[in-house]
Amino acid sequence: MAEKKESLVYIKHPEYAWVPGVLEKQEGDKATVKVFEYKDQQSIVSDGGRSSKGTTSVVVNLKEYPHKVLPLQNVDGNGNLCLYSDMISLSYLHEAGILYNLKERHKDGHPYTRTGDIIIAVNPFQWFNHLYTEEKRVYYSQKIVWADNKKDPREGLEPHVYEVSALAYKGLAFGGDDQSILVSGESGAGKTETVKIAMNHMASVQAGPSARSGQELDPVVARVVESNPLLEAFGNAKTRRNDNSSRFGKYLQLQFDTSEAKLMALGNKTESKCKLAGSKCDVYLLEKPRIVGHDPEERTYHIFYQLLAASSSEKGQFWSKLSNMTADSFKYIGKPCIDKIEGMTDAQHFEHTVKTLGLVNVKGDTLKEMMRAIIAVMLCGNLTFAALGGDKDKAEVVSKSELDDLAGLIGIDATTCSKAFTERTMKTKNETYKVPLNPIASKDAADALAKEMYGNVFLWLVRQINAATAAEDNYKGGSMANFGIIGLLDIFGFESFPVNRFEQLCINYANEKLQQKFTEDIFRSVQEEYESEGIELAEIMYDDNTDVLDLIEGRTGLLAMLNEECVRPGGNDQDFVQKALKINEKSPCLIVNKLNRMSFGIHHYAGKVLYDADQFVNSNTDTLPTDLEELCKSSTNSIISEKIDVVATTVGGKGGVKRQKSNLVGETAWGKYKNQLQSLMANLRKTNSRYIRCIKPNMVKKPVLMDHLATVEQLRCAGVVAAVTLSRSAFPNRLDNAVTRFRYSNMWDNKAFPSKRNSDMTPDQGARADIEAIMTCALKSKEETVNGKVVKAFVVGRTRTYFRAGALEFLEANRLEN
Ligand code: ATP
Ligand code: MG
Repeated sequence: MAEKKESLVYIKHPEYAWVPGVLEKQEGDKATVKVFEYKDQQSIVSDGGRSSKGTTSVVVNLKEYPHKVLPLQNVDGNGNLCLYSDMISLSYLHEAGILYNLKERHKDGHPYTRTGDIIIAVNPFQWFNHLYTEEKRVYYSQKIVWADNKKDPREGLEPHVYEVSALAYKGLAFGGDDQSILVSGESGAGKTETVKIAMNHMASVQAGPSARSGQELDPVVARVVESNPLLEAFGNAKTRRNDNSSRFGKYLQLQFDTSEAKLMALGNKTESKCKLAGSKCDVYLLEKPRIVGHDPEERTYHIFYQLLAASSSEKGQFWSKLSNMTADSFKYIGKPCIDKIEGMTDAQHFEHTVKTLGLVNVKGDTLKEMMRAIIAVMLCGNLTFAALGGDKDKAEVVSKSELDDLAGLIGIDATTCSKAFTERTMKTKNETYKVPLNPIASKDAADALAKEMYGNVFLWLVRQINAATAAEDNYKGGSMANFGIIGLLDIFGFESFPVNRFEQLCINYANEKLQQKFTEDIFRSVQEEYESEGIELAEIMYDDNTDVLDLIEGRTGLLAMLNEECVRPGGNDQDFVQKALKINEKSPCLIVNKLNRMSFGIHHYAGKVLYDADQFVNSNTDTLPTDLEELCKSSTNSIISEKIDVVATTVGGKGGVKRQKSNLVGETAWGKYKNQLQSLMANLRKTNSRYIRCIKPNMVKKPVLMDHLATVEQLRCAGVVAAVTLSRSAFPNRLDNAVTRFRYSNMWDNKAFPSKRNSDMTPDQGARADIEAIMTCALKSKEETVNGKVVKAFVVGRTRTYFRAGALEFLEANRLEN
């Protein structure tokens, strides 16, 4: 006799986010769920808990907590969870379903999972060599790029970064549109590694379908591939969260010569004609405070340790005194807490760094000049100041020999240097005069100089790399009009710490901008899905983040108010907060903190963040005191003396390369950053974007382990849950047509609801007519009348059946075993 199926559900759990259980009964708003006991979250498997011992019954008030019980997705006849490489196939696509699907796959050694077009990459924290072999690279290119155009070339392929890189390449080579791959995730989630994996794949794809491993890389390709990790030496550091953490954002644009790509589109696929011709890199927000201080468990930028770990003779070539100095000799650096990064010692890294610098023409005297600038940065930290002649409002340099060393390195006499640190030039309309600085302010000036000099070295290096790799400079083969772009974005994810400062606001602002684009793109892909399924476009409801962006960058938004405060004489952090709160009081996204006048909060798309406005005005003003600026200008070291500012490159696929310099006099830090972001977004909008969302499954960087709460939080911040909600807003559940027909056929009274199948129909059309009849019967009670029109609780598409909210749960609760 047919038996009614038991309902498996997930219920919300304070420690483990969601746990599976069995719905025992449901009366009115009360549901009783049998939950199994677990040793720890690692042992929870999503099979309703049959494998665990001991149970407890939990009563859940559904009215009070409408989302605390979610139907569990498919389990097979043995009670095992069915795993999906593309989660779009999950009939119940919700946070709990996503979590357990990712968890089981991650445990089985599958770091990549799809949700439609988005790839979710769960950091495995162990190298699966078999995933990144030359064979794998070629396999994905063959299947996606060089195979005949099938509808979805990913069919039958395990999700992989290589599919994204291959699709991007194909989109450019055959479709002719610029492409981008946007990689996001929190620190340590694997963004930078993912970008490197994608880039190496692209270098291999462009070599053509007949290229094989062992072949030497074209020198242009070698420069592009090698020079990018070079930035890691100067812009990455060990943090608590990641031994090789990128402390800047990066948009790398790979430039391809598409002049002959059309031939490929016409079917001449024996050889790739869409060759990598160069690259351009834009960088965002290098973390400068790290230059002058760091937590004992962290480090400053790798290059400092690398240089100091080099052999005495090598160090001596840059500056003779350095030969017998170590990390301990410099206060900014100190004894490193680790001396191996990714299995290589700092000394080994240094060798590699110097070699790669050579590839981008930083060698000989240029290399020496750069290293001397870096040594000058370190020396700033060794300067000490004391009250001058007992007057605590005045200061003098105590560390005379360090001052002499610094002066010698930057080519300025010691007295001028000393004055620049201990005095400040003030200007009024009619006169210029000097005020003395106290020892603390003098020390701050030394720090400010160090940050300025290192920031300059970093930007100089980016420019140097761009000059050596840019297609227009090194590619003589094709015409400039025929460059296509594949952009790779590796940028800091959403941040929310116990204390959030100006830097977090800048980072979260960038994430809001990217989220806006993400939502638009997902919306478009949902439209496309409905079109291809032949379903009339239902009204799709989703939250966009225009309100938050308005609050941040609108006419009277936080940015405008802060800029105003920065030019107002006597402008300060508290006045900024109070004015900004007042003028934006109607914003639904602003949170007022009545207990602290220096604090305010924002409802970001990823959650609520409270900001501490301490130092906002200062951080935003971003101008070096004139005395220090003059000092830099007169340095004989050209890397220090040249004023290098952020430059946003606009690489036009069709129009060559334009440079936009965002160096307006008096522009604030945030103003410059906003321009940079605007230019980035404008560039991205010209491309066809693909998304890779990286997830850090645990904070201890261990393989296999998955922390449920942290993972769920990241899925939310990455907008994965929002994307799912959007794509499912009209029809939250879906099943393949074949499954629908099989699973619910015994709920069909085919006399009362006959199928409209007829002999003119193809088998597919016939099956759909059957499903229409089955579902009309099974879901009769779920029909609604809206404006006099009957709205069914399902729609049968070309390949899938789509269900409105509650319909699939109803079917599952009422179906009988086949
Ligand atoms: P940050 O924002 O701090 O720069 P990130 O997201 O760029 O972080 P990565 O530096 O790319 O993070 O990755 C952190 C570490 O995780 C790597 O050093 C590596 O040990 C590990 N990892 C990342 N991706 C993979 C992968 N695909 N396979 C194995 N290990 C990986
Ligand atoms: Mg990184």
